[in-house]
Amino acid sequence: MGHDQVNDGGAPGPATKVGRRKVLAGLATGLGLPLASGGIAEAAPVSERINLAKVARATAKFVSGDTSVAALNNGAEPQASADAARGAYGTWPQTGPQWVIYEWDQPVSTDSIDVYWWQDGQGIALPTSAQLSWWDGKAFVPVRNARGGGVAGDRFNRTTFDRVTTPKLKLSFVGDGQKSVGVLQWKVYNAGPVPAFAPVVGAGVDRAMVVGGQTWLAGKAEWLQRSSGDTVRWSQVSGPGKVVFADAGATATRAMVTQPGDYVLRLAASAQRKTSESTLALRAETPPPAKRLDVVYTTPYAIHSPLWNARAKALIVNWIPHCIAYCERTDLTDGQGGIDNFIEAGKALRGEPHARHKGYVFSNAWVHQTVESMCIALMVDPQGDAEIAQAQAKMHATLERWIPIILAAQERDGYLHTAYTLADRRNWPERWSPEHRADHEGYVAGYFIESAINHHTLTGGRDLRLYNAAKKLADCWVAHLGPGKKPWFDGHQEMEQALVRFGRFVNDVEGHGRGDAYIKLARFLLDSREGGSEYDQSHLPPEQQYEAVGHAVRAVYFYSGMADIAAETGDRDYQSAVMSLWDNMVNRKYYVTGGVGSGDTSEGFGGNYALRNNAYCESCSSCGLIFFQYKLNLAYHDAKYADLYEETMYNALLGATDLAGTSFCYTNPLVDTERARWHTCPCCVGNIPRTLLMMPTWTYVKGDDGLYVNLFVGSRIQVGEVAGTPVEMVQETDYPWKGAVAITVNPQETRRFALRIRVPQRKTSVLYHAEPAVGGLVRLAVNGEAVTPHIEKGYAVITREWRKGDKVELELPMAVQRVTADQRIEATRGKVALRYGPLVYNVEKADQRRIDLPIGNDALVPEWRGDLLGGVVAIRGRWADGSPLTAIPNYARMNRVGGPIHEFPGRSGVEYAPGSVSAGGGQQAVADERRAATGPQSLVWIEQAKRVQA
Ligand SMILES: [Zn+2]
Repeated sequence: MGHDQVNDGGAPGPATKVGRRKVLAGLATGLGLPLASGGIAEAAPVSERINLAKVARATAKFVSGDTSVAALNNGAEPQASADAARGAYGTWPQTGPQWVIYEWDQPVSTDSIDVYWWQDGQGIALPTSAQLSWWDGKAFVPVRNARGGGVAGDRFNRTTFDRVTTPKLKLSFVGDGQKSVGVLQWKVYNAGPVPAFAPVVGAGVDRAMVVGGQTWLAGKAEWLQRSSGDTVRWSQVSGPGKVVFADAGATATRAMVTQPGDYVLRLAASAQRKTSESTLALRAETPPPAKRLDVVYTTPYAIHSPLWNARAKALIVNWIPHCIAYCERTDLTDGQGGIDNFIEAGKALRGEPHARHKGYVFSNAWVHQTVESMCIALMVDPQGDAEIAQAQAKMHATLERWIPIILAAQERDGYLHTAYTLADRRNWPERWSPEHRADHEGYVAGYFIESAINHHTLTGGRDLRLYNAAKKLADCWVAHLGPGKKPWFDGHQEMEQALVRFGRFVNDVEGHGRGDAYIKLARFLLDSREGGSEYDQSHLPPEQQYEAVGHAVRAVYFYSGMADIAAETGDRDYQSAVMSLWDNMVNRKYYVTGGVGSGDTSEGFGGNYALRNNAYCESCSSCGLIFFQYKLNLAYHDAKYADLYEETMYNALLGATDLAGTSFCYTNPLVDTERARWHTCPCCVGNIPRTLLMMPTWTYVKGDDGLYVNLFVGSRIQVGEVAGTPVEMVQETDYPWKGAVAITVNPQETRRFALRIRVPQRKTSVLYHAEPAVGGLVRLAVNGEAVTPHIEKGYAVITREWRKGDKVELELPMAVQRVTADQRIEATRGKVALRYGPLVYNVEKADQRRIDLPIGNDALVPEWRGDLLGGVVAIRGRWADGSPLTAIPNYARMNRVGGPIHEFPGRSGVEYAPGSVSAGGGQQAVADERRAATGPQSLVWIEQAKRVQA
């Protein structure tokens, strides 16, 4: 990986930039904005000045996690103090004196600097004073005769001083004692001759690609003064095949490779015989199979394994009814906006007096997801359980009440978004306008469309009300958006994956390519994404995105939609980007729990290996990640993606509600968590149950030559037709507590096909290493006869003539593993996590007095505890001091410890919907304060005892 403190390749040269700054400063004066105190004296004409900062190394006393010191000298030209479009450096939450230092390879002469201060209207404000000092060989001393030192906003503040020649400059500043300080850009101008510096070169991010596709190289090379003999060139350092560059002499170009394998590419640039270079790693893979696997839709099914029965019952009997009740409440002042918005929109469409829209612009989302959750929950066989049957009767009644209300809010042409329908047309004059990109039109539409799929399968296609309305909505979007029509992308992805999911479903239900237009529109929405910011992944066209960045939920929905399009179209460039994004996320930015989103950026990803334990990991990002991995399983027919979604499901998502199903968590950190009855931003409330209960879809997928078993859940599931005959699959297992699984295959007619059974591979990410290694199968038998199966892409393949009642018995190895993380992850250095099967474990204060001790080296033993947390396999061991240690599954964390359950937590510093027309308030979460008072209650990562030499 190369340097990242460089300017855009191909940007205007230094002279032009300084000139533009002058224009801006002039404008500011003309507008009567305050100028910094002190005169502006210039030793040489601005056009001759060179910004020496571009070749300096920047360091700081403190850098907040969501900012970067590299932003200080990346050459950005901010338009205002709130313009952090090209990054910012900040010191939040520090409020004391701070400094930043530039250091050069050789001394530079300077007599003037420019500083552009940052403020964000929240924790970052302008400083009260600033001071520049220089390194005199022994210490930093203030520059002499400093004039300027301004701290004004929305402009560069120039400081001039007596010329110094030095290898280091230090900029010190203090804030008002309440807020932190930040800098968007700090320039240092030469005085006199400029020494020769090698160019600053960055090759760009590591990535993957598929052979036959191309990768976009966005290299950067920055010269202080470029002269005619200076060169820049891409070359191949290593790799099994040949790399072909479209233009090896351009920093921004494209490359293709001839063979799969690992490559290293180099970008080198020279200035006056000084050369610098930067490399990137590129992994080329063979393309996925031409045909993706087929979805097994969720239709009526039965669960019979103890863990999943209990989880499903809690969701059906408590959680979904709770969501229904809150969607019907009209008295909420926080996290409001449920079915009432649909009632009012219906009135508006009938021309009747109506109330205003309530809550966030996207508040329809939790209604649609609650509808989808009800539809799926109604497909779960109650198996004589009176409480489940009673809850289901209420869901039937609720659907009958809600569906007409929702449909009455649909506009005549199919458009459905009550925030728009109820908006004042002066504030929101038209649909799909760039000014309203933050208003979630696609996010809400997508969830509605998805809810219609499971309503259709619930009713066996007999009730088409939601299905037809979803088609009408999708048709409305198709009629207005697309090539030759309106361009558009939504600030929050979701419509893309919904349109593909629905398009596939419509094609499967109706045939004749009736759903193709929806899939085409999904691609158009993805391709329209550019010119924006990393926050919503609109900073680059999709096929040029190789690093997981920005808001984590938006990201995983985006990548899931991209994976769909890659699979539907076979587009090699899309496949390359999807592989890169997957690899970056899973192998650089992935928690041991299968969660994503460290929270270093707003509700989003941090840099590579930035994985703090107080993670963000929103429940919705776990849902989206399961979808993403599932799409890759469909595309690549490879079990490793199912290994990954199993991990996310059992850990990051399954604990998102408490065991009783009465509260949920918005974030899923690896130290404690805070559950709530509802939330300021209740986006996850319906997403959790609809994802967890879509069990038939996650458990099986189908291919042309047979059936794939992806999950081990005691269940009776109709998988539809395999080899031309309907097949019922029955699993009996107590997994994940025990490794024995019996699978009965019940084809209606005897048929020959392949049954592929996933052989779990616990090493899912290169970030984590587990001991002892656990893999393979302990045994496998068909109708009582031992079989040594052929293993293909992580599946044990059994091809034979299957007849009703044929039984496969297998045993998965189950053992306690100690997991350690890559040393580059600071938060987990010297720590260990425990795992048993797919389950990650926590230690909790409820089981032991202290959880901050090092773990001992004694054997760790799995132990069934029927009395604990509804029945779990606990892990028993010893702390280093010899006291007993108990660990419980991560999904059952924080059920016996923690503070009171709040109704509407939310963080005042988080903008849950930046830029949208209305936004709710937020209350300061109390979890951090409580933790500060009592210490952690529940931990994934345990201190590791230093190994004693035997
Ligand atoms: Zn959410």
